[in-house]
Amino acid sequence: AEAFSANVAGAKALNAFIVETPDHALAAAKAADADRAAGTLKPLSGVPIGMKDLFCTNGVQTTAASHMLEGFVPRYESTVSQKLWDAGAGMLGKLNLDQFAMGSSNETSYFGNVISPWKRNDGGPNLKERAALAPGGSSGGSSAAIAARLCPAATGTDTGGSIRQPAAFTGISGIKPTYGRCSRWGIVAFASSLDQAGPMARTVQDCAILLENMAGFDPKDATSLDMAVPNWEAALSSDLAGKTVGIPREYRLKGIDPDIDAMWDAGIAMLKDAGAEVVEISLPHTKYALPAYYIIAPAEASSNLARYDGVRYGLRDLPQGAGLQDMYAATRADGFGPEVKRRIMIGTYVLSAGFYDAYYTQAQKVRTLISRDFTAAFGTCDVILAPTAPSAAFGLGEKTSDPLAMYLNDVFAVPASLAGLPAMSVPAALNREGLPLGLQIIGKAFDEQGVLNAGLAIE
Ligand code: GLN
Repeated sequence: AEAFSANVAGAKALNAFIVETPDHALAAAKAADADRAAGTLKPLSGVPIGMKDLFCTNGVQTTAASHMLEGFVPRYESTVSQKLWDAGAGMLGKLNLDQFAMGSSNETSYFGNVISPWKRNDGGPNLKERAALAPGGSSGGSSAAIAARLCPAATGTDTGGSIRQPAAFTGISGIKPTYGRCSRWGIVAFASSLDQAGPMARTVQDCAILLENMAGFDPKDATSLDMAVPNWEAALSSDLAGKTVGIPREYRLKGIDPDIDAMWDAGIAMLKDAGAEVVEISLPHTKYALPAYYIIAPAEASSNLARYDGVRYGLRDLPQGAGLQDMYAATRADGFGPEVKRRIMIGTYVLSAGFYDAYYTQAQKVRTLISRDFTAAFGTCDVILAPTAPSAAFGLGEKTSDPLAMYLNDVFAVPASLAGLPAMSVPAALNREGLPLGLQIIGKAFDEQGVLNAGLAIE
């Protein structure tokens, strides 16, 4: 209990948790004791995990880090969280994130930014006075809490990099499985054709164990994959003999931080040492991925977020004597933050009658070309290795006034999202300032095993 209160105090300093649920974790610990005595231990018996506050949890406030859902207490449990509880895990609390999972730094949260436990080793003044860094986003509460050892593992969601980029920024591991592996049921929707849940943890092995207990067919999600969940942990192996790793030439960006390229080269050497053959591949439409993502994701978001009308969920602003339209306007003006409003405006614009073909249809065609690039590349390789993000963690406030600079940080993450492919980030190196950098492994659809095994060879 003492250790737990110390953890909670630490969590408060980082602002990683929106709500703490020690009773939930304690109940799981007690159940684990009983299971142990009875010889019926489950795969996650008693393991206390953090839950990104995008997963609906029965009886526990679920906000998506928005004012819109402040005070919203679901009367149902998301499929993924239910599976984790069924496997014996308990919940330490609901973790902070970018509002409605829109962002790359956790700075769009209504509940304030999360602070990364990392600091630059830049020869500057003492640790406390050095600039606070972003934990990445949108799963920034999850990444900060794990990196600070406040919890051994957490859930994340990844629409365009939100598991991988925060994992890279904080020196932990995280995997976004193939689209459809984890049920979306009960997860607050951002962009439904891209949204995918996955685990974040300290090791590849922990990710494999968690994913096995999160994935699986769910008739309540129309895009759920009706496929058996393999025993990924049992088949973990860092022996890559007979495997071919593709290095996408288009991901070598001019002017990128040399530490990123050096980490990439070191990763290539590690995979060769593990027995893999390394070949150069081409993903020719890579440069169109980011613009296509920032049309498709806001388009779907604008549609998904139409449900927040002041009637059905959370916030209701009903000015004295106001009519229905006034209530919609007041509630939405008050409930959504600036980044969410920006996405809704972009989304409604690209879906509007006059612009639909020029933007939305075009972006969908580009998405198909990007998927085909990957299919062609996987004709000559088993997995792809690339950096997770083009930089190490940046300072809080550094990019908040320039949305495009913030979007650019997703450049390496969004292609795999658009193609629905499994992709993982593993910690690979420290840069000159002592900050962690992550390498990304992208696999063929359904080949989480190949991704995890390559990750294991790097970790
Ligand atoms: N940073 C990306 C965005 O802002 C990805 C977010 C996510 O994956 N949820 O849309």
